[in-house]
Amino acid sequence: MSPAHLLAPAILAAIIAPAAFAAGAELCPATPLPQPAAYVAHINEVNRGLGIPDDYAAKHNLVPQPEAKHLVDVPRDVYGRKVQMVPPAATALKQMFAAARHDGIKLETVSGFRSMAYQTHLIREKLDRGMTIRKALTINAVPGYSEHQTGCAVDLTTPGVPAADGSFARSKAFAWMQRNAARFGFHLSFPPGNKYAYEYEPWHWRYIAGSATASSR
Ligand SMILES: [Zn+2]
Repeated sequence: MSPAHLLAPAILAAIIAPAAFAAGAELCPATPLPQPAAYVAHINEVNRGLGIPDDYAAKHNLVPQPEAKHLVDVPRDVYGRKVQMVPPAATALKQMFAAARHDGIKLETVSGFRSMAYQTHLIREKLDRGMTIRKALTINAVPGYSEHQTGCAVDLTTPGVPAADGSFARSKAFAWMQRNAARFGFHLSFPPGNKYAYEYEPWHWRYIAGSATASSR
């Protein structure tokens, strides 16, 4: 292998490195930072391979999301599987879980960080089973555009509510989240009638850096 071959991955990584990691830019901004053209081209190529049209994301008001590189553990999911988020989001989530517990509410994780490769795999599996891409995209977000890829988003549930189920909106845990999540910097991404035309997802919350209104009561 030539030295050029050895260098290539490092150079490529530098070119496609998410903007959030350039010059210490903060993680989990309120508005996603513009992503490098080479990275966006890579996302488009992956999606073309799944049969997703280039204009699909723009038509749905979706913007490319950076992929988190540095992740830390948050409380495990309801099946005991490891869940990870970027450090500031993880810290805020743990504080929020503790505050909820103090109020007699048990919050549980369902899903945190998901890589673009994993998101692609989830859709590929469905296509291989004969599902149409249109149907698959009602279940999984377009690779490269999922908030879960940033490590800032988390799906939550509470005992007695199935994972990623609309009935979470009628739980005491959800009522607690509506009253308290913003204090910890967590916000509902897909409320009813959202601009992305996603279904209402009461379980999906995104941490926005600097948006916490208080650290304690
Ligand atoms: Zn989610």
